[in-house]
Amino acid sequence: MDRRKPDIGWNVPVRTRWAGRRLHYFQETDSTNSDAVRLAGEGAPHGTVVVADRQNKGRGRRGRVWQSPPGKAIYFTILLKPEFGSSRAAGLTLVMALSAVQAVRDCCGLEAGIKWPNDLVLNGKKICGILTELHGGEEEKPCVVIGVGINVNLEQMPEGLTETATSLFMESGIRTDRSELLAGLLERFEENYRIYEEHLSMAGLLEEYNSCLVNRGRQVRVLDPKGEFEGIAGGINAAGELLVETEDGTVKEVYAGEVSVRGIYGYV
Ligand code: ATP
Repeated sequence: MDRRKPDIGWNVPVRTRWAGRRLHYFQETDSTNSDAVRLAGEGAPHGTVVVADRQNKGRGRRGRVWQSPPGKAIYFTILLKPEFGSSRAAGLTLVMALSAVQAVRDCCGLEAGIKWPNDLVLNGKKICGILTELHGGEEEKPCVVIGVGINVNLEQMPEGLTETATSLFMESGIRTDRSELLAGLLERFEENYRIYEEHLSMAGLLEEYNSCLVNRGRQVRVLDPKGEFEGIAGGINAAGELLVETEDGTVKEVYAGEVSVRGIYGYV
């Protein structure tokens, strides 16, 4: 199959200034994040988007796999060339998570929540994952790729994921136009990016992000390679760190890097 062939199933009505103004469609690819990195090397501009109907090597965090069956989901990556350094760029994962919640609300009328830092959940199960990869050091301007997988119209989840994952269709019985959802998400992202850039932090998006946070007020286990601990999750701070109050009353600021958060009784 010609992997470069435009996928005719997609016709994204882009309404933004820069997010997705350049769109590359692939019927099948290994990973849209890898494609975006390659395109960056070829001089692709800020806001370039890669969309694929199927990924053969979709990635999660730390070498995990993102299952990417064809035809019914959204797999896309946006390439960003921010004016700010890598340490600030890491927060863009949260900006994308908030944008995805808003787009799912706008387009499907569903209230998804955010499981800090990078997953969207509906009824306690994951519907969307986000993987941000940074290229370039603190000295140079970074090149950032943010990959997003959304389980849109899947009628069932692949084996092994039925307990923890679901799709918008499985939760609502309604089919969603993937191109419309993607266009709505890019619009939301462009606006939220502007706010993030203005503050160089989550300060301008904090309240809304925290209102979507499913971990909030819940007992969580923080899987930190330097030592696991439990506590009650509050919201995030402007730096995007999750505030977790341990039993002795200490509030720890948890940075997403190498850390995962789980509910005590399950995924959330
Ligand atoms: P963390 O909290 O550290 O992010 P995570 O398990 O959510 O942990 P990710 O790297 O965000 O990890 O996502 C990869 C994981 O998501 C996989 O290990 C698998 O459990 C799950 N997964 C893979 N494909 C899908 C999918 N299409 N839909 C929902 N969940 C998936």
